Amino acid sequence: MHDLLITDAEIYDGLGGPPVHADVAVQGGRIAAIGKGLGAGRERVSAGGLALMPGIIDTHTHYDAQITWDPMANPSPALGVTTVVMGNCGFTIAPCRPADRDLVMRNLTHVEGMSLAALREGIRWDFESFPQYLDGIEQRGVGPNVACFVGHSSVRTYVLGEDAARRAATAPEIAQMRAIVVEAVHAGACGFSTTTSLQHNGENGIPMPSRLADDAEMQALCGSLREVGRGVLMMTKAGSTPVAWVEDLAARAGRPFVVAALLHNNAAPEASFEDLEHIGQARSRGHRLYGAVSCCPLVFEFTMHEPYVFEGLAAWKPAMTVHGEDALRLFRDSGFRAAVKRELAQPARRMFNGEWEKLFVTQTRLPEHRAYEGRPLSALAADSGKHPMDVLLDLSVEEQLDTLFTGTLLNSDEEAVGRMIRDPNSLLSLSDAGAHLTFLCDAGFGLHFLGHWVRGRGLMPMQEAVRRLTSQPADAIGIPGRGRIAPGAYADLLLFDPASVGRGPARRVFDLPAGASRLNTPSRGVHGVWVNGEKIADAAGIAEGARPAGKVLREFAA
Ligand SMILES: [Zn+2]
Repeated sequence: MHDLLITDAEIYDGLGGPPVHADVAVQGGRIAAIGKGLGAGRERVSAGGLALMPGIIDTHTHYDAQITWDPMANPSPALGVTTVVMGNCGFTIAPCRPADRDLVMRNLTHVEGMSLAALREGIRWDFESFPQYLDGIEQRGVGPNVACFVGHSSVRTYVLGEDAARRAATAPEIAQMRAIVVEAVHAGACGFSTTTSLQHNGENGIPMPSRLADDAEMQALCGSLREVGRGVLMMTKAGSTPVAWVEDLAARAGRPFVVAALLHNNAAPEASFEDLEHIGQARSRGHRLYGAVSCCPLVFEFTMHEPYVFEGLAAWKPAMTVHGEDALRLFRDSGFRAAVKRELAQPARRMFNGEWEKLFVTQTRLPEHRAYEGRPLSALAADSGKHPMDVLLDLSVEEQLDTLFTGTLLNSDEEAVGRMIRDPNSLLSLSDAGAHLTFLCDAGFGLHFLGHWVRGRGLMPMQEAVRRLTSQPADAIGIPGRGRIAPGAYADLLLFDPASVGRGPARRVFDLPAGASRLNTPSRGVHGVWVNGEKIADAAGIAEGARPAGKVLREFAA
Protein backbone atom coordinates (compact mmCIF):
# COMPACT_ATOMS: atom_id res chain seq x y z
CA MET A 1 0.00 0.00 0.00
CA HIS A 2 1.45 3.33 -1.09
CA ASP A 3 1.20 6.44 1.08
CA LEU A 4 -0.23 8.50 -1.77
CA LEU A 5 -1.53 7.69 -5.22
CA ILE A 6 -2.28 10.42 -7.75
CA THR A 7 -4.15 8.93 -10.71
CA ASP A 8 -5.13 10.14 -14.17
CA ALA A 9 -2.60 12.99 -14.37
CA GLU A 10 -0.83 14.61 -17.30
CA ILE A 11 2.70 14.33 -15.95
CA TYR A 12 5.41 16.87 -16.76
CA ASP A 13 8.65 15.36 -15.50
CA GLY A 14 10.52 18.64 -14.98
CA LEU A 15 13.33 17.49 -17.27
CA GLY A 16 11.68 18.84 -20.41
CA GLY A 17 10.18 15.56 -21.62
CA PRO A 18 6.74 15.54 -23.29
CA PRO A 19 3.81 14.99 -20.91
CA VAL A 20 2.81 11.43 -20.11
CA HIS A 21 -0.67 10.42 -19.00
CA ALA A 22 -0.20 8.16 -15.98
CA ASP A 23 -0.45 7.65 -12.22
CA VAL A 24 2.18 8.50 -9.61
CA ALA A 25 2.76 6.48 -6.43
CA VAL A 26 4.49 8.01 -3.41
CA GLN A 27 6.09 6.08 -0.58
CA GLY A 28 8.10 7.46 2.33
CA GLY A 29 8.21 10.97 0.87
CA ARG A 30 9.65 9.83 -2.45
CA ILE A 31 8.23 8.89 -5.82
CA ALA A 32 7.95 5.10 -5.84
CA ALA A 33 6.57 4.52 -9.33
CA ILE A 34 5.08 6.18 -12.39
CA GLY A 35 2.72 4.25 -14.66
CA LYS A 36 -0.65 2.50 -14.68
CA GLY A 37 -2.20 0.07 -12.21
CA LEU A 38 0.22 0.95 -9.42
CA GLY A 39 -1.96 -0.62 -6.72
CA ALA A 40 -3.64 1.00 -3.74
CA GLY A 41 -2.84 4.17 -1.82
CA ARG A 42 -3.76 5.22 1.70
CA GLU A 43 -4.48 8.64 0.24
CA ARG A 44 -5.86 8.69 -3.28
CA VAL A 45 -6.20 11.75 -5.51
CA SER A 46 -7.93 11.57 -8.86
CA ALA A 47 -6.34 14.26 -10.99
CA GLY A 48 -9.05 14.05 -13.67
CA GLY A 49 -6.54 14.81 -16.41
CA LEU A 50 -5.01 17.87 -14.71
CA ALA A 51 -1.28 18.57 -15.04
CA LEU A 52 1.16 17.29 -12.42
CA MET A 53 4.65 18.80 -12.25
CA PRO A 54 7.47 18.92 -9.70
CA GLY A 55 6.95 21.71 -7.17
CA ILE A 56 8.41 25.08 -8.15
CA ILE A 57 11.90 25.90 -6.87
CA ASP A 58 12.29 29.56 -5.96
CA THR A 59 15.99 30.40 -5.92
CA HIS A 60 15.69 34.04 -4.83
CA THR A 61 13.83 34.55 -1.56
CA HIS A 62 14.42 36.43 1.70
CA TYR A 63 12.48 34.36 4.22
CA ASP A 64 15.46 34.29 6.64
CA ALA A 65 13.69 36.38 9.29
CA GLN A 66 10.09 35.35 8.59
CA ILE A 67 10.80 31.63 8.74
CA THR A 68 11.70 31.94 12.44
CA TRP A 69 8.09 32.92 13.26
CA ASP A 70 6.30 31.50 10.19
CA PRO A 71 7.68 28.04 9.33
CA MET A 72 5.27 27.82 6.39
CA ALA A 73 6.98 30.73 4.57
CA ASN A 74 3.66 32.28 3.56
CA PRO A 75 2.58 32.61 0.83
CA SER A 76 5.04 30.60 -1.30
CA PRO A 77 3.69 27.05 -0.82
CA ALA A 78 0.16 28.23 -1.68
CA LEU A 79 1.64 29.47 -4.95
CA GLY A 80 3.10 26.10 -5.93
CA VAL A 81 6.57 26.58 -4.46
CA THR A 82 7.97 23.54 -2.63
CA THR A 83 11.60 24.66 -2.19
CA VAL A 84 12.83 28.14 -1.28
CA VAL A 85 16.42 29.34 -1.38
CA MET A 86 16.94 32.04 1.27
CA GLY A 87 19.80 34.34 2.21
CA ASN A 88 20.14 35.99 -1.19
CA CYS A 89 22.05 39.24 -1.77
CA GLY A 90 24.14 38.64 1.36
CA PHE A 91 21.30 39.55 3.74
CA THR A 92 21.00 36.74 6.26
CA ILE A 93 20.29 37.08 9.95
CA ALA A 94 23.04 34.60 10.86
CA PRO A 95 25.67 34.75 12.07
CA CYS A 96 24.71 37.56 14.45
CA ARG A 97 26.00 38.57 17.88
CA PRO A 98 23.28 39.53 20.38
CA ALA A 99 24.67 43.08 20.48
CA ASP A 100 24.22 43.48 16.72
CA ARG A 101 20.61 42.25 16.46
CA ASP A 102 19.02 45.66 16.38
CA LEU A 103 21.49 46.95 13.79
CA VAL A 104 20.79 43.93 11.57
CA MET A 105 17.03 44.45 11.90
CA ARG A 106 17.26 48.17 11.14
CA ASN A 107 19.29 47.40 8.02
CA LEU A 108 16.88 44.67 6.92
CA THR A 109 13.85 46.87 7.44
CA HIS A 110 15.42 49.36 5.11
CA VAL A 111 17.00 47.25 2.42
CA GLU A 112 14.26 44.66 2.16
CA GLY A 113 11.18 46.67 3.08
CA MET A 114 10.26 44.63 6.12
CA SER A 115 8.47 46.36 8.97
CA LEU A 116 10.87 46.98 11.86
CA ALA A 117 8.07 46.40 14.37
CA ALA A 118 7.33 43.04 12.75
CA LEU A 119 11.01 42.05 12.83
CA ARG A 120 11.44 43.12 16.47
CA GLU A 121 8.37 41.23 17.58
CA GLY A 122 8.74 38.28 15.24
CA ILE A 123 12.34 37.07 14.97
CA ARG A 124 13.24 34.19 17.27
CA TRP A 125 16.86 34.89 18.17
CA ASP A 126 17.82 31.44 19.38
CA PHE A 127 21.17 31.37 17.58
CA GLU A 128 24.40 33.22 17.14
CA SER A 129 26.29 31.18 14.53
CA PHE A 130 25.07 30.10 11.13
CA PRO A 131 25.04 26.38 12.06
CA GLN A 132 22.91 27.23 15.12
CA TYR A 133 20.49 29.15 12.90
CA LEU A 134 20.02 26.14 10.59
CA ASP A 135 19.52 23.87 13.62
CA GLY A 136 16.88 26.26 15.02
CA ILE A 137 14.72 26.42 11.93
CA GLU A 138 15.09 22.66 11.48
CA GLN A 139 13.88 22.00 15.03
CA ARG A 140 10.81 24.21 14.57
CA GLY A 141 10.10 22.59 11.20
CA VAL A 142 9.73 24.18 7.77
CA GLY A 143 6.75 24.11 5.39
CA PRO A 144 8.62 24.09 2.10
CA ASN A 145 12.14 22.70 1.75
CA VAL A 146 14.67 25.37 2.62
CA ALA A 147 18.18 26.02 1.37
CA CYS A 148 20.12 28.97 2.72
CA PHE A 149 23.11 30.98 1.58
CA VAL A 150 25.45 32.39 4.19
CA GLY A 151 25.31 36.14 3.60
CA HIS A 152 28.29 38.43 3.18
CA SER A 153 26.78 41.40 5.04
CA SER A 154 26.03 39.24 8.10
CA VAL A 155 29.48 37.69 8.13
CA ARG A 156 31.04 41.14 7.80
CA THR A 157 28.94 42.60 10.61
CA TYR A 158 29.83 39.62 12.78
CA VAL A 159 33.55 40.24 12.34
CA LEU A 160 33.77 44.04 11.97
CA GLY A 161 30.79 45.16 14.09
CA GLU A 162 29.76 48.77 13.46
CA ASP A 163 32.78 49.19 11.18
CA ALA A 164 31.27 46.71 8.71
CA ALA A 165 29.56 49.51 6.78
CA ARG A 166 32.49 51.92 7.08
CA ARG A 167 35.77 50.46 5.89
CA ALA A 168 37.73 47.77 4.13
CA ALA A 169 38.68 44.72 6.17
CA THR A 170 42.21 43.91 7.38
CA ALA A 171 43.91 40.66 6.39
CA PRO A 172 43.18 39.00 9.78
CA GLU A 173 39.53 40.05 9.52
CA ILE A 174 39.31 38.60 6.02
CA ALA A 175 40.78 35.36 7.32
CA GLN A 176 38.20 35.27 10.09
CA MET A 177 35.31 35.91 7.65
CA ARG A 178 36.63 33.23 5.37
CA ALA A 179 36.65 30.70 8.22
CA ILE A 180 33.01 31.55 9.03
CA VAL A 181 31.95 31.05 5.40
CA VAL A 182 33.74 27.70 5.24
CA GLU A 183 32.15 26.60 8.54
CA ALA A 184 28.68 27.63 7.29
CA VAL A 185 28.98 25.72 4.03
CA HIS A 186 30.23 22.65 5.88
CA ALA A 187 27.19 22.95 8.18
CA GLY A 188 24.77 23.09 5.23
CA ALA A 189 24.72 26.54 3.63
CA CYS A 190 24.05 26.20 -0.11
CA GLY A 191 26.76 28.76 -0.82
CA PHE A 192 27.85 32.35 -0.30
CA SER A 193 25.85 35.44 -1.34
CA THR A 194 26.75 39.11 -1.66
CA THR A 195 25.75 42.39 -3.29
CA THR A 196 27.42 45.33 -4.95
CA SER A 197 24.09 46.98 -5.87
CA LEU A 198 23.82 50.73 -5.29
CA GLN A 199 20.18 50.15 -4.39
CA HIS A 200 21.22 48.16 -1.31
CA ASN A 201 21.49 50.60 1.58
CA GLY A 202 20.85 50.09 5.25
CA GLU A 203 19.55 52.57 7.78
CA ASN A 204 20.25 56.24 6.99
CA GLY A 205 21.50 55.41 3.52
CA ILE A 206 24.65 53.70 4.78
CA PRO A 207 25.72 51.07 2.22
CA MET A 208 25.06 47.46 3.16
CA PRO A 209 28.33 46.04 4.59
CA SER A 210 29.29 43.88 1.61
CA ARG A 211 29.50 46.99 -0.55
CA LEU A 212 32.59 48.01 1.45
CA ALA A 213 34.48 44.86 0.50
CA ASP A 214 37.59 45.35 -1.60
CA ASP A 215 38.86 42.93 -4.23
CA ALA A 216 41.03 41.02 -1.76
CA GLU A 217 38.02 40.32 0.47
CA MET A 218 35.72 39.33 -2.39
CA GLN A 219 38.38 37.02 -3.80
CA ALA A 220 39.06 35.41 -0.43
CA LEU A 221 35.40 34.85 0.50
CA CYS A 222 34.18 33.66 -2.91
CA GLY A 223 37.36 31.66 -3.37
CA SER A 224 36.83 29.87 -0.05
CA LEU A 225 34.29 27.60 -1.74
CA ARG A 226 37.13 25.96 -3.66
CA GLU A 227 38.38 24.63 -0.33
CA VAL A 228 34.93 23.19 0.50
CA GLY A 229 34.37 21.80 -2.98
CA ARG A 230 30.69 22.59 -3.06
CA GLY A 231 28.25 25.47 -2.80
CA VAL A 232 27.14 28.19 -5.18
CA LEU A 233 28.07 31.88 -5.31
CA MET A 234 25.37 34.49 -5.68
CA MET A 235 25.70 38.23 -6.25
CA THR A 236 23.23 41.01 -6.88
CA LYS A 237 25.49 43.24 -8.86
CA ALA A 238 25.39 46.92 -9.56
CA GLY A 239 24.61 47.77 -13.18
CA SER A 240 28.22 48.89 -13.48
CA THR A 241 29.76 45.71 -12.01
CA PRO A 242 31.34 43.94 -15.00
CA VAL A 243 30.48 40.31 -15.62
CA ALA A 244 34.20 39.72 -16.31
CA TRP A 245 34.98 40.51 -12.65
CA VAL A 246 32.28 38.05 -11.51
CA GLU A 247 33.70 35.44 -13.87
CA ASP A 248 37.11 35.87 -12.27
CA LEU A 249 35.57 35.23 -8.83
CA ALA A 250 33.77 32.14 -10.17
CA ALA A 251 37.05 30.90 -11.63
CA ARG A 252 38.88 31.35 -8.32
CA ALA A 253 36.19 29.33 -6.55
CA GLY A 254 35.65 26.78 -9.31
CA ARG A 255 31.98 26.96 -8.39
CA PRO A 256 28.72 28.02 -10.13
CA PHE A 257 27.78 31.69 -9.83
CA VAL A 258 24.25 33.15 -9.98
CA VAL A 259 24.40 36.73 -11.24
CA ALA A 260 21.41 38.89 -10.25
CA ALA A 261 19.37 40.93 -10.84
CA LEU A 262 19.07 41.12 -14.61
CA LEU A 263 15.93 43.21 -15.01
CA HIS A 264 15.17 44.94 -18.29
CA ASN A 265 15.68 48.67 -18.11
CA ASN A 266 14.25 50.98 -20.76
CA ALA A 267 16.93 53.57 -19.97
CA ALA A 268 19.65 51.06 -20.87
CA PRO A 269 17.72 48.61 -23.04
CA GLU A 270 20.73 46.57 -24.19
CA ALA A 271 22.51 46.34 -20.83
CA SER A 272 20.94 43.12 -19.57
CA PHE A 273 21.38 41.47 -22.97
CA GLU A 274 25.06 42.40 -22.90
CA ASP A 275 25.33 40.87 -19.42
CA LEU A 276 23.65 37.69 -20.68
CA GLU A 277 26.02 37.59 -23.63
CA HIS A 278 29.05 37.96 -21.35
CA ILE A 279 27.62 35.23 -19.13
CA GLY A 280 27.32 33.01 -22.20
CA GLN A 281 30.96 33.69 -23.09
CA ALA A 282 32.01 32.84 -19.53
CA ARG A 283 30.08 29.56 -19.81
CA SER A 284 31.84 28.73 -23.04
CA ARG A 285 35.10 29.09 -21.08
CA GLY A 286 33.81 26.50 -18.61
CA HIS A 287 32.70 28.90 -15.85
CA ARG A 288 29.18 28.08 -14.71
CA LEU A 289 27.54 31.51 -14.58
CA TYR A 290 23.75 31.95 -14.59
CA GLY A 291 21.95 35.24 -15.26
CA ALA A 292 19.03 35.53 -12.84
CA VAL A 293 16.04 37.05 -14.68
CA SER A 294 12.43 37.70 -13.72
CA CYS A 295 9.21 36.95 -15.57
CA CYS A 296 7.33 39.63 -13.62
CA PRO A 297 7.22 43.37 -14.25
CA LEU A 298 8.79 45.08 -11.24
CA VAL A 299 5.77 46.87 -9.82
CA PHE A 300 6.18 48.84 -6.58
CA GLU A 301 3.36 50.16 -4.43
CA PHE A 302 4.81 52.84 -2.15
CA THR A 303 4.44 56.10 -0.25
CA MET A 304 7.14 58.72 0.29
CA HIS A 305 7.42 57.51 3.89
CA GLU A 306 9.54 54.73 2.34
CA PRO A 307 10.77 56.03 -1.02
CA TYR A 308 12.95 52.96 -1.76
CA VAL A 309 12.43 53.38 -5.51
CA PHE A 310 14.45 56.61 -5.58
CA GLU A 311 17.26 55.49 -3.30
CA GLY A 312 19.53 54.38 -6.15
CA LEU A 313 19.95 58.08 -7.03
CA ALA A 314 23.04 59.75 -5.57
CA ALA A 315 21.04 63.00 -5.23
CA TRP A 316 18.56 61.19 -3.01
CA LYS A 317 21.18 60.60 -0.34
CA PRO A 318 20.14 63.54 1.92
CA ALA A 319 16.60 62.13 2.05
CA MET A 320 17.79 58.89 3.58
CA THR A 321 18.76 60.39 6.92
CA VAL A 322 15.68 62.54 7.57
CA HIS A 323 12.27 61.68 8.95
CA GLY A 324 9.02 63.44 9.86
CA GLU A 325 9.11 67.24 9.63
CA ASP A 326 12.70 67.19 8.39
CA ALA A 327 11.68 64.98 5.47
CA LEU A 328 8.81 67.31 4.60
CA ARG A 329 11.21 70.26 4.69
CA LEU A 330 13.71 68.52 2.42
CA PHE A 331 11.02 67.42 -0.05
CA ARG A 332 9.94 71.08 -0.35
CA ASP A 333 13.51 72.24 -0.93
CA SER A 334 14.08 73.48 -4.46
CA GLY A 335 17.83 72.72 -4.36
CA PHE A 336 17.16 69.07 -3.46
CA ARG A 337 14.51 68.81 -6.16
CA ALA A 338 16.77 70.36 -8.78
CA ALA A 339 19.58 67.90 -8.00
CA VAL A 340 17.22 64.92 -8.25
CA LYS A 341 15.75 66.15 -11.53
CA ARG A 342 19.23 66.78 -12.92
CA GLU A 343 20.35 63.25 -12.11
CA LEU A 344 17.14 61.70 -13.45
CA ALA A 345 17.73 63.49 -16.76
CA GLN A 346 20.93 61.43 -17.21
CA PRO A 347 19.99 57.94 -18.43
CA ALA A 348 21.53 55.18 -16.29
CA ARG A 349 20.87 51.64 -15.22
CA ARG A 350 18.90 52.09 -12.04
CA MET A 351 15.54 51.26 -10.56
CA PHE A 352 13.65 54.42 -11.48
CA ASN A 353 14.51 56.24 -14.67
CA GLY A 354 11.91 58.95 -15.01
CA GLU A 355 9.28 56.81 -16.72
CA TRP A 356 6.55 59.01 -15.27
CA GLU A 357 3.90 57.56 -17.56
CA LYS A 358 4.32 54.28 -15.65
CA LEU A 359 4.02 55.86 -12.21
CA PHE A 360 0.41 56.28 -11.02
CA VAL A 361 -1.34 57.92 -8.08
CA THR A 362 -3.13 54.98 -6.47
CA GLN A 363 -4.72 56.41 -3.34
CA THR A 364 -4.95 59.95 -1.97
CA ARG A 365 -5.59 61.10 1.56
CA LEU A 366 -7.40 64.39 0.88
CA PRO A 367 -10.82 64.45 -0.82
CA GLU A 368 -9.77 67.29 -3.16
CA HIS A 369 -7.09 65.00 -4.63
CA ARG A 370 -9.40 62.07 -5.46
CA ALA A 371 -9.47 63.01 -9.14
CA TYR A 372 -5.73 62.21 -9.33
CA GLU A 373 -6.28 58.56 -8.44
CA GLY A 374 -5.56 56.20 -11.31
CA ARG A 375 -3.72 58.89 -13.29
CA PRO A 376 -0.03 58.77 -14.26
CA LEU A 377 2.36 61.46 -13.01
CA SER A 378 3.17 62.36 -16.62
CA ALA A 379 -0.46 63.39 -17.27
CA LEU A 380 -0.74 65.31 -13.99
CA ALA A 381 2.48 67.12 -14.90
CA ALA A 382 1.15 68.04 -18.33
CA ASP A 383 -2.09 69.36 -16.77
CA SER A 384 -0.31 71.50 -14.22
CA GLY A 385 2.72 72.56 -16.23
CA LYS A 386 4.98 71.27 -13.44
CA HIS A 387 7.82 68.74 -13.54
CA PRO A 388 6.43 65.31 -12.55
CA MET A 389 8.88 65.16 -9.62
CA ASP A 390 7.38 68.41 -8.32
CA VAL A 391 3.88 66.98 -8.76
CA LEU A 392 4.83 63.90 -6.78
CA LEU A 393 6.58 65.80 -3.99
CA ASP A 394 3.95 68.58 -3.75
CA LEU A 395 1.16 66.05 -3.49
CA SER A 396 3.05 63.92 -0.97
CA VAL A 397 3.95 66.90 1.21
CA GLU A 398 0.34 68.14 1.20
CA GLU A 399 -0.81 64.71 2.33
CA GLN A 400 1.85 64.22 5.03
CA LEU A 401 3.49 61.59 2.75
CA ASP A 402 0.46 59.28 2.87
CA THR A 403 -0.26 59.39 -0.88
CA LEU A 404 0.04 55.88 -2.32
CA PHE A 405 1.78 55.48 -5.69
CA THR A 406 2.17 52.45 -7.94
CA GLY A 407 4.97 52.31 -10.46
CA THR A 408 6.10 49.77 -13.01
CA LEU A 409 9.80 50.34 -12.70
CA LEU A 410 11.60 47.64 -14.63
CA ASN A 411 10.80 44.65 -16.85
CA SER A 412 7.88 46.48 -18.45
CA ASP A 413 8.88 45.78 -22.09
CA GLU A 414 7.34 42.34 -22.63
CA GLU A 415 9.14 41.75 -25.91
CA ALA A 416 12.49 42.26 -24.19
CA VAL A 417 11.54 40.29 -21.08
CA GLY A 418 10.45 37.37 -23.26
CA ARG A 419 13.85 37.42 -24.98
CA MET A 420 15.63 37.43 -21.62
CA ILE A 421 13.58 34.50 -20.31
CA ARG A 422 14.30 32.46 -23.45
CA ASP A 423 18.01 33.22 -23.28
CA PRO A 424 19.87 29.92 -22.72
CA ASN A 425 22.11 31.58 -20.10
CA SER A 426 19.25 32.79 -17.90
CA LEU A 427 17.80 31.37 -14.71
CA LEU A 428 14.15 32.17 -13.96
CA SER A 429 14.28 33.68 -10.50
CA LEU A 430 14.06 36.96 -8.55
CA SER A 431 10.71 36.62 -6.78
CA ASP A 432 12.25 38.33 -3.73
CA ALA A 433 9.58 36.46 -1.73
CA GLY A 434 9.78 37.36 1.94
CA ALA A 435 11.15 40.84 1.15
CA HIS A 436 9.76 44.18 -0.05
CA LEU A 437 6.56 42.95 1.59
CA THR A 438 4.95 46.37 1.73
CA PHE A 439 5.87 47.13 -1.89
CA LEU A 440 5.16 44.01 -3.96
CA CYS A 441 4.47 40.26 -4.00
CA ASP A 442 6.05 38.12 -6.72
CA ALA A 443 6.05 34.89 -4.71
CA GLY A 444 3.65 33.58 -7.38
CA PHE A 445 6.17 34.13 -10.20
CA GLY A 446 5.95 30.48 -11.26
CA LEU A 447 2.17 30.51 -11.65
CA HIS A 448 2.45 33.84 -13.48
CA PHE A 449 5.02 32.28 -15.80
CA LEU A 450 2.77 29.32 -16.63
CA GLY A 451 -0.37 31.45 -17.06
CA HIS A 452 0.84 34.67 -18.61
CA TRP A 453 3.91 33.60 -20.56
CA VAL A 454 3.11 30.02 -21.53
CA ARG A 455 -0.69 29.93 -21.93
CA GLY A 456 -1.18 33.61 -22.73
CA ARG A 457 1.80 34.42 -24.93
CA GLY A 458 2.98 30.97 -26.04
CA LEU A 459 6.58 31.83 -25.14
CA MET A 460 7.65 28.18 -24.94
CA PRO A 461 6.07 24.73 -24.70
CA MET A 462 4.71 23.74 -21.28
CA GLN A 463 7.29 20.99 -20.76
CA GLU A 464 10.16 23.44 -21.28
CA ALA A 465 8.49 26.01 -19.01
CA VAL A 466 8.13 23.39 -16.29
CA ARG A 467 11.83 22.50 -16.65
CA ARG A 468 12.74 26.16 -16.19
CA LEU A 469 10.85 26.24 -12.87
CA THR A 470 12.05 22.90 -11.51
CA SER A 471 15.08 20.83 -12.59
CA GLN A 472 16.99 23.80 -13.99
CA PRO A 473 17.01 25.78 -10.72
CA ALA A 474 17.54 22.57 -8.71
CA ASP A 475 20.59 21.73 -10.80
CA ALA A 476 21.90 25.30 -10.76
CA ILE A 477 21.91 25.39 -6.95
CA GLY A 478 23.04 21.76 -6.76
CA ILE A 479 19.93 20.48 -4.95
CA PRO A 480 19.89 16.70 -5.43
CA GLY A 481 16.74 14.62 -6.03
CA ARG A 482 14.33 17.51 -6.49
CA GLY A 483 12.80 19.38 -9.40
CA ARG A 484 11.92 16.17 -11.27
CA ILE A 485 9.22 13.51 -11.27
CA ALA A 486 11.21 10.31 -11.46
CA PRO A 487 11.40 7.13 -9.40
CA GLY A 488 13.42 7.84 -6.26
CA ALA A 489 13.06 11.63 -6.47
CA TYR A 490 11.48 13.46 -3.54
CA ALA A 491 7.70 13.81 -3.91
CA ASP A 492 7.49 17.61 -4.21
CA LEU A 493 4.48 17.99 -6.50
CA LEU A 494 2.16 20.63 -7.96
CA LEU A 495 -1.22 19.63 -9.43
CA PHE A 496 -2.66 22.39 -11.60
CA ASP A 497 -5.02 23.25 -14.42
CA PRO A 498 -3.08 24.62 -17.41
CA ALA A 499 -6.29 26.30 -18.64
CA SER A 500 -6.58 28.55 -15.60
CA VAL A 501 -3.18 28.58 -13.84
CA GLY A 502 -1.93 32.01 -12.80
CA ARG A 503 -1.84 34.46 -9.91
CA GLY A 504 -4.63 36.73 -8.78
CA PRO A 505 -4.38 40.47 -8.07
CA ALA A 506 -2.28 41.73 -5.17
CA ARG A 507 -4.17 42.46 -1.96
CA ARG A 508 -2.91 44.06 1.24
CA VAL A 509 -3.22 41.87 4.33
CA PHE A 510 -2.27 42.66 7.94
CA ASP A 511 -1.07 39.33 9.31
CA LEU A 512 2.59 40.02 10.14
CA PRO A 513 3.80 40.32 13.74
CA ALA A 514 2.79 43.66 15.29
CA GLY A 515 -0.10 43.77 12.77
CA ALA A 516 2.21 44.95 9.98
CA SER A 517 0.97 44.74 6.42
CA ARG A 518 2.21 42.88 3.39
CA LEU A 519 0.99 42.37 -0.16
CA ASN A 520 -0.30 38.92 -1.03
CA THR A 521 -1.63 37.25 -4.17
CA PRO A 522 -3.98 34.27 -4.41
CA SER A 523 -3.28 31.31 -6.69
CA ARG A 524 -5.35 30.47 -9.75
CA GLY A 525 -5.73 26.91 -11.03
CA VAL A 526 -3.76 25.24 -8.22
CA HIS A 527 -5.40 21.97 -7.11
CA GLY A 528 -2.77 20.58 -4.76
CA VAL A 529 0.79 21.07 -3.52
CA TRP A 530 2.78 18.30 -1.82
CA VAL A 531 6.12 18.58 -0.04
CA ASN A 532 7.97 15.30 0.53
CA GLY A 533 4.70 13.47 -0.17
CA GLU A 534 2.59 15.47 2.29
CA LYS A 535 -0.12 17.85 1.18
CA ILE A 536 0.64 21.41 2.21
CA ALA A 537 -1.70 23.52 0.03
CA ASP A 538 -4.72 23.36 -2.24
CA ALA A 539 -6.92 25.80 -4.19
CA ALA A 540 -7.79 27.68 -1.01
CA GLY A 541 -4.16 28.22 0.00
CA ILE A 542 -2.05 26.57 2.69
CA ALA A 543 -4.10 23.65 4.02
CA GLU A 544 -5.65 23.96 7.46
CA GLY A 545 -3.49 22.06 9.94
CA ALA A 546 -0.80 21.26 7.37
CA ARG A 547 2.34 19.87 8.96
CA PRO A 548 5.66 21.52 8.13
CA ALA A 549 6.81 18.65 5.93
CA GLY A 550 9.78 20.43 4.38
CA LYS A 551 13.44 19.68 4.98
CA VAL A 552 16.29 21.99 5.76
CA LEU A 553 18.53 21.07 2.83
CA ARG A 554 22.17 20.61 3.79
CA GLU A 555 23.58 18.31 1.12
CA PHE A 556 24.47 19.94 -2.17
CA ALA A 557 26.12 18.67 -5.30
CA ALA A 558 29.90 18.76 -5.42
ZN1 LIG B 1 17.24 39.94 -3.04
